[in-house]
Amino acid sequence: MLATRLAILVRREYEKRRMRAATREVDLDQEGRTTLALLGRAAIEESRPDFSASLHDVLSLCRTSFKDWPLGALSTDDGLASVRLLTDQGVPTPDCADLVRGASNLADLEEGVLFARLMEQIKSSVAGSDRERVYSAVREFIVRTPVTTRGALHAFMTSARTMGLAGVLQNEIYQPTPRPIDGVVSTCEHCGSRLRRATGSCATPICEMRHGRGRTGVSVPWTEDLIEVGDAVLTFWVSPGLDECALYDEARALGRDAVLYDRMDACDVLIDGAIALDLKANLSPISLARRLNAGIGRLARYSRRIICIPDPIIVVTPAFIPQLRARLDPSLPSLEIMSSADFLKELKGA
Ligand SMILES: [Zn+2]
Repeated sequence: MLATRLAILVRREYEKRRMRAATREVDLDQEGRTTLALLGRAAIEESRPDFSASLHDVLSLCRTSFKDWPLGALSTDDGLASVRLLTDQGVPTPDCADLVRGASNLADLEEGVLFARLMEQIKSSVAGSDRERVYSAVREFIVRTPVTTRGALHAFMTSARTMGLAGVLQNEIYQPTPRPIDGVVSTCEHCGSRLRRATGSCATPICEMRHGRGRTGVSVPWTEDLIEVGDAVLTFWVSPGLDECALYDEARALGRDAVLYDRMDACDVLIDGAIALDLKANLSPISLARRLNAGIGRLARYSRRIICIPDPIIVVTPAFIPQLRARLDPSLPSLEIMSSADFLKELKGA
């Protein structure tokens, strides 16, 4: 499948760039060259201009949805039309990761790497009985404060007793905010991430979908103390985390018992010890179905299991939920699928 091949190419090029290797056609492996050749053939078959000669052009196109490519072959399946392989910042999206995962069992996907690094540090620096609490506190802090200061991070680590994680938090999850020319950083009034000056759009993908572009945000004077989470953290943790925290807050406000990232991420939000929510930020029902069909992991432990889809994803693909249901393997443990808004309604009505 061309989309899967392209996802693998995008993933490999991202890894090379991260290792600071140049992205040039001559460095492509045989698989990558074949993928470009197949793209070229599809363009010729559709009598379209062949853009596949330039890896740079192909990677730029990967930042747009398949339906906006100058090629029909990638969006003939309507479930893939809304898929993008790279975020505006050039990070492979959850859909890209799932297409790759569907093709092979690569264990080094971005989300897996982040999770593994945090777990490694927790295991080496936190007593066994305190690990679940520390994991939840750190993930919640990251989602709620994607831009912060070294001082505020230090204060959090002291109060939440997570100083053992200083290395991974200060050096891997957070990074210094680059100094803007005018010395002022704009942050999003909804999620606290940085707003991109050129477009006035939030760096958190789901927040951008929800609130659009052309915003001015909140001005924060730049200082050397200012830090922010990296793009992969924004894509894989903060983006779905916005609805996770919103549903958690609402449940608590209603007097329900709620836990974030129960048992080190077995589910995203656990309500009353029985209702387990898993928020998914995939834009494609096909890639999400593929991922769920591969196994639902520790979510199977809970009696009521709900896959929650953030509303902006359903605005873009109105048939997302029926398309996902239709593709789920009937042998999976039963899953409820609903939008975050519908779950919120249920919560308030209960
Ligand atoms: Zn935002």
